[in-house]
Amino acid sequence: MLILICDAFDKSLPERLKKFAEVTEDIARLPEAEVALVRSKTKCTAEWIAGAPRLKLIIRGGVGLDNVDAKAAKERGIEVRNTPAASSVAVAELAFGLMLAVPNKLIEAHNAMKLDGKFLKKELKRTELFQKTLGLVGIGRIAGEVAKRAAAFGMRVLAYDPYVKHSDVAILVPTLKELFSKADYISLHVPLSEDTKGMINKAAIAEMKDGVVIVNTGRGKCIVEEDLAEALKSGKVAAYATDVWFSDPPDPSSPLLAAPNVIMTPHIGASSKENLLRIGSEVVELLEKWGK
Ligand code: NAD
Repeated sequence: MLILICDAFDKSLPERLKKFAEVTEDIARLPEAEVALVRSKTKCTAEWIAGAPRLKLIIRGGVGLDNVDAKAAKERGIEVRNTPAASSVAVAELAFGLMLAVPNKLIEAHNAMKLDGKFLKKELKRTELFQKTLGLVGIGRIAGEVAKRAAAFGMRVLAYDPYVKHSDVAILVPTLKELFSKADYISLHVPLSEDTKGMINKAAIAEMKDGVVIVNTGRGKCIVEEDLAEALKSGKVAAYATDVWFSDPPDPSSPLLAAPNVIMTPHIGASSKENLLRIGSEVVELLEKWGK
């Protein structure tokens, strides 16, 4: 059996997998592979699957399965697994980091000192997260971790999730409209689906408070980029802090790259050292069970 590691995992993983089979990181050997390990970079399209005639199992190290063509895999009888539990703390900490960067002016202050030699002590006015309302879109694993951290900061935490009936960490609201109308900060934690694609559009933004801050560690395609860029220019949305993009990397023409008050990270939510080790352990567990 050949296990092909397609994307970036912890560097200890090849050694940890040797007990199961031969392990390679040479993607040219896809046609020989029976197990493929991917994160979000490799797109497991129908064409990619057709190029892997021996493939029996795809393991997506991480949460979202939107880079795997589930239908094409099913038609070929290929099992698809992921490691949903590992990444929650890593992503939640980045979401919180992005959320803290906005009211604390961390990027402006740093860039002014470092790049322009300016000491903007009087000019930069901070605000606090304390007693602000956080609106979570989706209240799954990652949002749950964000909610706990927000509570520790003294925020009021609301969440909208039509598939969840009870939450210990957030007050559930029945509609997105209500969430949008009450939140000072909105943080997105939904998978990409037909329902969530483009959910932050002109009409949705119109329902939000003036000067709202949007944090996105979910998926870039949940945003209609042109609509959000317009709202950033008008000031309706005060800031957009995002780890995720329409594509990785974003197209240079993406209106969000040029829009004001956008804080950007290059899809590193799951990429903490600790998380890559946890993902590796979940991959090992999956292979142990799969072999039985
Ligand atoms: P999860 O499955 O635990 O939670 C997702 C929640 O979204 C669920 O509770 C679900 O009911 C809810 N949901 C689905 N459709 C909805 C809708 N239309 N409106 C409101 N809620 C809806 O997943 P998770 O582990 O919390 O991850 C959430 C998402 O975060 C992933 O699907 C992925 O897209 C993204 N993610 C990003 C990174 C990163 O590197 N930035 C890393 C991991 C995951």
